[in-house]
Amino acid sequence: MARDVPAFDAQHPPAQDLMDDCVHCGFCLPSCPTYLLFGEEMDSPRGRIYLMREGLEGESLTDAMVRHFDLCLGCLSCVTSCPSGVQYEKLIAATRQQVERRYERTRYDRIFRKLLFRFLPYPTRLRALASTLRTYQALGIQSAFRKSRLRELLPARLRAMEGLTPEPPPHSPPLPVLIPPHGKRRRRVAMLTGCVQRVFFPHVNAATARVLAAEGCEVVAPHGQGCCGALSLHAGREQEAMTFARRTIDTFEAAGVENVVANVAGCGSAMKDYGYLLRDDPTHAGRAQNFAVKVRDASELVHELGPAAIRHPLPLIAAYHDPCHLAHGQKIRAAPREVLRTIPGLTLREIRESEICCGSAGIYNLIEAEPAARLGERKALNVLETGAQLLVTGNAGCLLQIRASLNRMRKQLPLTHPMQVLDASICGEPVTTLTR
Ligand code: SF4
Ligand code: SF4
Repeated sequence: MARDVPAFDAQHPPAQDLMDDCVHCGFCLPSCPTYLLFGEEMDSPRGRIYLMREGLEGESLTDAMVRHFDLCLGCLSCVTSCPSGVQYEKLIAATRQQVERRYERTRYDRIFRKLLFRFLPYPTRLRALASTLRTYQALGIQSAFRKSRLRELLPARLRAMEGLTPEPPPHSPPLPVLIPPHGKRRRRVAMLTGCVQRVFFPHVNAATARVLAAEGCEVVAPHGQGCCGALSLHAGREQEAMTFARRTIDTFEAAGVENVVANVAGCGSAMKDYGYLLRDDPTHAGRAQNFAVKVRDASELVHELGPAAIRHPLPLIAAYHDPCHLAHGQKIRAAPREVLRTIPGLTLREIRESEICCGSAGIYNLIEAEPAARLGERKALNVLETGAQLLVTGNAGCLLQIRASLNRMRKQLPLTHPMQVLDASICGEPVTTLTR
């Protein structure tokens, strides 16, 4: 609900000098997914910067203004395409934080968001949810529900949530605290096991740790680590994100490692931004900067190290999907592709419109179900067009989003993380372990 007060307070409003970098050229428009969907100037990066400027000049946060900010995926495709180097990621992050503090959302919206953040960043709570989910899936209730018309009666957000529920993960014991390297030690690294990742994708964590060890890393998985704060940060929950960031820094500093490895693009991107997030923090500002320079995406680190382990052939055709927080947020496009190309027999295919978000975007596909579904189906069609046998992507959110879109289209395609593919090759597993 709009309030008759200036849109922004003095606590880190979107910065005027960053807005002034925008020369209104419009080069970013064709790469903005919401501009592609709605064709509205105010749903483009240039339009949103115009609204931020109005806010900075004292306009109130109107419902319409907040709607345009909310519809932004935070995919940062505009950052890649902007020739003037506009740091839109800082502008939208500051704007979201102001919106979360100063705009009164509807009761339903508030409760829904609160519930999401009561669960998503907490592995213990997620684990309880996962076991209920397992029963729901094992008893066949999910497939019966999906075939019935009851599903269509659910509100859009709950329907989206149901469609995105992960499959029960294969059993995977928790990572040991220390995994020794194969052969001579090349690096000592710590792995972020994540919150959603740890509960629903423990097999991806296990594959990542095996690959890192095979490539000569001593791998530490520090106890006591929790959520890195990525979901909170991208949703404008600044204080919560800062709390998670401080705890992550404290935990990983104690591990005494050269690198901190993330295998989820959103987490890696958030951790690389800790220096900026904690820039005013009296105890953690400098430590956050030191921490951030150590962070690597798993593919980035494997590429940096160069192959040490023998790769066995995997004769298959794979398509690689760029997660936005890897390609646009961390500027990592070549490393995952080159890492996959070290596998004999593997053919890599490019996906049309690879710079356009799949609609996952943190909690976007739960909050903005309709545009997210349209983007998901657009992405799924482009993936299918490649004729690949397997889709590879380094972000759990993208994987769930594209899988849900394929399911709605009644299409089947296996999806995996790049580290799972590399692990299968290093371990000499057959292609069917990835494609069945
Ligand atoms: S972050 Fe993505 S959705 Fe938002 S303005 Fe930029 S390109 Fe558009
Ligand atoms: S491409 Fe950059 S400078 Fe041009 S309108 Fe978009 S944000 Fe502004």
